[in-house]
Amino acid sequence: MKTSDFPIFTVKNEPSDSEVTSHKLMIKSGMIRKVSSGQYNWLPLGYRVLEKIKNIIREELNSIGCREILMPIVQPSELWRESGRWDKYGPELLRFKDRHDREFCFGPTFEEVVTDLIRQDLSSYKQLPINVFQISTKFRDEIRPRFGVMRAREFIMKDAYSFHTDSKSLDDTYNKYKNAYNEIFKRLMLDFTMVDADSGNIGGSESHEFHVIADTGEDEILLDESLNGMNTEIAIKKFNETDVKKIIEKTGMKLKKGIEVGHIFKLGKKYSEAMNVRVSDKDSKLKTVHMGCYGIGVSRIVAAAIEQNYDEKGIVWTDSISPFKVVLIDIDSQKNEDIKNYSEKIYSNLISKNIDVIYDDRDLNLGKKLTDWELIGVPNMLIVGNKETEKEKLTYKNRATDEKEEVPLNFLDDKRFKN
Ligand code: ATP
Ligand code: MG
Repeated sequence: MKTSDFPIFTVKNEPSDSEVTSHKLMIKSGMIRKVSSGQYNWLPLGYRVLEKIKNIIREELNSIGCREILMPIVQPSELWRESGRWDKYGPELLRFKDRHDREFCFGPTFEEVVTDLIRQDLSSYKQLPINVFQISTKFRDEIRPRFGVMRAREFIMKDAYSFHTDSKSLDDTYNKYKNAYNEIFKRLMLDFTMVDADSGNIGGSESHEFHVIADTGEDEILLDESLNGMNTEIAIKKFNETDVKKIIEKTGMKLKKGIEVGHIFKLGKKYSEAMNVRVSDKDSKLKTVHMGCYGIGVSRIVAAAIEQNYDEKGIVWTDSISPFKVVLIDIDSQKNEDIKNYSEKIYSNLISKNIDVIYDDRDLNLGKKLTDWELIGVPNMLIVGNKETEKEKLTYKNRATDEKEEVPLNFLDDKRFKN
């Protein structure tokens, strides 16, 4: 890709309403733009990061037998009345009416719709377990949207749901998701941990949260040395405040801030009972199915990853979710035909090797280009000017370490550029 057909929208000024670094950097590097409170447009650069995260999630969920579906974002009130949540959910649920005066809401989560979907085709235990997921827009009318896409009103979530004949099957599947989530967050190269959690509005018996550890996190988590622990809120509910303090003193556990990026729940029969989802078992008796649900905050991960990876110049993307693996920067190619030809040759070479590259062919000086790419945070930079063209070499610059070296052409085969 070239910047001539991949617009770069970096800006100097910081947004006036930004309280955290990731929000500032996402605006400055041209990843997002605000539409209204808690709502953002995703520009091409930001969208590429989102897509990389989505693909890692897809691959890992497919590998545990979870299949992708898509459900409508606008949901009829009837289903929410059936589950009993229409009156319980509170003002986070954005409700409205259509032209026929029917009530609808904008989906903050999809237990009702997915339960209704699966029950229509479910009759026998032989069809179970079933695992489905979607990656889609959710809307929650958050009381205090803030930190950019971290706590937005409209955001992108991966939500998965599982259906089982018994609790044993749910337990097995729940463990598979735990493992898949660990793989996902490892591949995203995040410093994360899994903790025991409350199941909040969604309900159910057991639940775990996945947190990216960062000072700007809104949650407090209690962790031991190997990063095992609990959400402090839950710890206090379970043991009360004084006992929690005693536990901290005794065990040397530490309080840290976490950004919740994933949440898994054993729902049990909460929704299947309310919405009457039953299958005939081996003895032809009707049994209520067991369910699990599993969320990941896809758009929140973008912000969380930045909170863990930046310096004074800008974002420092980890390899797996950087918008590009490498940026090729030419110097003065508009004024010098040889530099232009040589840069084009390097670019074709990178493309033929299937390397995820963006070629900055803008008519700008090197300083401006470097400032932009350091802000954007692509991990590898290749620079081509007069000297490099004459010697048939390249200058390589590492974004994280700032190290610069002259390298031969076969450096393009280096493993750091591979996918
Ligand atoms: P939180 O406690 O942060 O409000 P939650 O418990 O309400 O999260 P879930 O209902 O479990 O969240 O949703 C699954 C995931 O969706 C969360 O783990 C989080 O990563 C993400 N998420 C939830 N609310 C938002 C939001 N307002 N903006 C961005 N991502 C969100
Ligand atoms: Mg919430």
